[in-house]
Amino acid sequence: MVQRASTYRAVQAVSKGKLELVHKPLTDPPPGYVRIQVEACGVCHSDSATVEGLLPIQWPRVPGHEAVGRIDATGEGVEGWKAGQRVGVGFLGGNCGYCAYCRDGDLVNCINQDYTGVQHDGGYAEVMIVKASGLIAVPDDLSSVNAAPLLCAGLTTFSALRNSPARAGDLVAVFGVGGLGHLGVQYARHMGFEVVAIDRGNGRAELSKKTRRASLHRQLGDRRRQSASGARGRTSGAGDSLRGQSGRCRPRRLATGWHRDFARCH
Ligand SMILES: [Zn+2]
Ligand SMILES: [Zn+2]
Repeated sequence: MVQRASTYRAVQAVSKGKLELVHKPLTDPPPGYVRIQVEACGVCHSDSATVEGLLPIQWPRVPGHEAVGRIDATGEGVEGWKAGQRVGVGFLGGNCGYCAYCRDGDLVNCINQDYTGVQHDGGYAEVMIVKASGLIAVPDDLSSVNAAPLLCAGLTTFSALRNSPARAGDLVAVFGVGGLGHLGVQYARHMGFEVVAIDRGNGRAELSKKTRRASLHRQLGDRRRQSASGARGRTSGAGDSLRGQSGRCRPRRLATGWHRDFARCH
């Protein structure tokens, strides 16, 4: 008989700017929750809000909202999920199913939804307790490491493209080929857009060429001697094209934790 460990390792924020490695007691999931053995967790810039206390938070708190793992225990009343399934957990920690937004089918804006790594512990750990309604099934042919960043960075960029009025063949500009941008470029290309990746530096230029996702890359700054006015001109030109095709401003939360009533179009 295999003896299960009574503790698991986690990295938690304990005060402003301070992380520590700890052993936490292994607990059973409460009703409506599952326990997962974490296999991968992405590192998102928003995790710094947990570590630096930029959001209202009670330390200690384990950051990490791009987690993928395998269910090893289910709480009472959990249906549709079972031990052994590989699942993902994003920033939104699970809707309630009964508030006005949930009843309207707007689960993203549920008012009773915790944020993973902010109001309950996230994926910088070997084990997580997760609300079943916050789980996402991960297909077998997608590795945990590759799936993890899609749960925040990937979702954010994909949702922006999907909810844009732009259609296949339109010109889309992606500003910044970083953690989100390099995913946005790939989504846009596969969705049939003409893609312009805008960033500065030869490293980012090579990344765009290497992935061969962008049909056109415009490089700003660094080794190419360009005047500041020239750089601004190019940037605003691409932006104008995008804005022109995007049409009206749509104040709508797509994937992050802002309540839609707070959203503003500037
Ligand atoms: Zn709700
Ligand atoms: Zn994130």
